[in-house]
Amino acid sequence: MTEPSIVAANLEIEHNDSALVKRWTIEQSEELYRIQGWGEPYFSINAAGHVTVSPQADRGGSLDLYELVNALKQRNLGLPLLIRFSDILEDRIERLNACFAKAIARYSYPGAYRGVFPTKCNQQRHLIEDLVRFGKRHQFGLEAGSKPELMIALATLDTPGALLVCNGYKDHEYIETATLAQRLGHIPIIVLEQAEEVEMAIEAARKLGVKPILGIRAKLSTKGVGRWGNSAGDRAKFGLKIPEIIQAVEKLRQADMLDCLQLLHYHIGSQISAISVIKDAIREASQIYVELARLGANMQYLDVGGGLAVDYDGSKTNFYASKNYSMQNYANDIVVEVKEACEERQIPVPTLVSESGQAIAAHQSVLVFDVLSTSDVLPDLPEPPSPQDPLLLRNLYETYESISVDNYQEAYHDANQFKEEIISKFGFGYISLPDRARAERLYWACCAKILAIVRQQDYVPDDLEDLEKIMASIYYVNFSVFQSAPDSWAIDQLFPIMPIHRLDEEPTRRATLADLTCDSDGKVDQFIDLRDIKYVLELHPLNPLEPQPPDQPVNQPVNQHEPYYLAMFLNGAYQEVMGNLHNLFGDTNAVHIKLTPKGYQIEHVVKGDTMTEVLSYVQYDSEDLIEKIRRRTEQALQDNQITLQEARLLLQNYEHSLSRYTYLSS
Ligand SMILES: *Cc1c(COP(=O)(O)O)cnc(C)c1O
Repeated sequence: MTEPSIVAANLEIEHNDSALVKRWTIEQSEELYRIQGWGEPYFSINAAGHVTVSPQADRGGSLDLYELVNALKQRNLGLPLLIRFSDILEDRIERLNACFAKAIARYSYPGAYRGVFPTKCNQQRHLIEDLVRFGKRHQFGLEAGSKPELMIALATLDTPGALLVCNGYKDHEYIETATLAQRLGHIPIIVLEQAEEVEMAIEAARKLGVKPILGIRAKLSTKGVGRWGNSAGDRAKFGLKIPEIIQAVEKLRQADMLDCLQLLHYHIGSQISAISVIKDAIREASQIYVELARLGANMQYLDVGGGLAVDYDGSKTNFYASKNYSMQNYANDIVVEVKEACEERQIPVPTLVSESGQAIAAHQSVLVFDVLSTSDVLPDLPEPPSPQDPLLLRNLYETYESISVDNYQEAYHDANQFKEEIISKFGFGYISLPDRARAERLYWACCAKILAIVRQQDYVPDDLEDLEKIMASIYYVNFSVFQSAPDSWAIDQLFPIMPIHRLDEEPTRRATLADLTCDSDGKVDQFIDLRDIKYVLELHPLNPLEPQPPDQPVNQPVNQHEPYYLAMFLNGAYQEVMGNLHNLFGDTNAVHIKLTPKGYQIEHVVKGDTMTEVLSYVQYDSEDLIEKIRRRTEQALQDNQITLQEARLLLQNYEHSLSRYTYLSS
């Protein structure tokens, strides 16, 4: 970190002056990071300026996330650390069921709700086991989208009356296994998603002499919006078009199996941010449902799929990272639309099924990581040029001096122009390297001065919008975007990110995050905002470490600053299993925390990958590797290239590393 010098110091003095008048409050942090918008009722800030977690929402106590992380570090659970709060998972299941129960009561719906969790959203064993346990009293079931997921669901689900919805591509074995699962007391519903699956199901039924429970996935014409918008419509990957549905009904009728067809399913995509789209879909699906019943199918269930959105940015809008409706609105609309459609045609109402993934799993996990170092653009005040200096440099200095509220926009263009010209002249050999360095420092000084003015304005002219980005610090953080937030890299998904402490202190830096991988895509440079997104995140400068008393044996830390912890929230859906081993950064440590009357308890610890483990994924054997290094060391010793002491240290480090976490330790 460079020393803040004069200009920056001046800016900070101005800050501090105003800070004296008005101290930064936790309310300001709440507003800045929008924690109430996306975090309620689970996350908030306490008087100490730390993030707190209330895993049981308003029904239970809360714990200090910063202190929890420190306590876990003492137990050798280093960062990055994924913390799962099983109480939040339970609360999400309760909430979803309560919303449907309320809607059913409110509209006197003469049927029930029986939700399922789509396994693909997070297949971790501890989570699925918790989910099944928490869901028991609501007969909450599971949805499988592949053969391996079916294996999980068949073995884990043991709730009488809960549904086991079987989606995805199927082969004979899949269909047979699912059909036979009825014999174990399961209610497996085989959802026909491809035209060929109809024959396969008929064949399996004949072979086994067991009648399956069948569903049909319809391709609706209602299109989702945003990223997953193409899960519906005629070109969608899954589902039967209306003519194919009619054919399927006929085939089942001919096979005398029309009574097996009991469920209609659709899924128009994830994170449906607009309630209007949800309404359109349920309206269309209700009509298909009613028609199927009239055609003689033994209809019992209407499965509305996933799509119930999470408000990642807390804006409560139909922006793709948000949603313009509540869970209650969602349940109400589904219940009322289905009821009306059925009543009108005098068809008994179905049991309602939904497959909410994100809405159940996103909130329960928090990824905490530390900042390793920063690279700041901290401009200093350059000395005034002398008359012998290049004219362009003198011009740039004049520009710097002239910057004021009245001309800052023009001054910005001038500064850019002079800088470009200087670089171009440098290319022709007319400007020396030291002069170019002075020019660049001068340019940063101009930008800093202009930015200070821009930040005071209500309106930022378009051409100055990039200034924050240009002047942003880079915070190097101890995690891999590819492993822990793959959707942030792959589809620009936004997750709320904020410091978990020092929230009673003004965050004076503006930064983007760079991860540990040596991939230039390994970064986070889009953050949630009330309107659209922002390109820099407000963070605190790193505090230098208190000097250690010299006589104490110090465990030399990697960083020369106090720990600074950030957390990424709402990332419990999809990220874990889609995370990849880019640069061989492995799974992070994960812990399951449960609230107790006295505080909390650690229910499970899932240690992150060691280097030996990630290396074995790419077929390296640690013993082999060590042997190779040992031999080379031996050779180097023979050749007098290395001392015995160095050789010992090298081998020791090599062996030790292999058994360690793939991330940096601080
Ligand atoms: C992915 C998926 C879901 C889950 O969607 P969410 O938006 O996470 O609720 C549900 N059903 C099917 C068929 C899916 O493919």
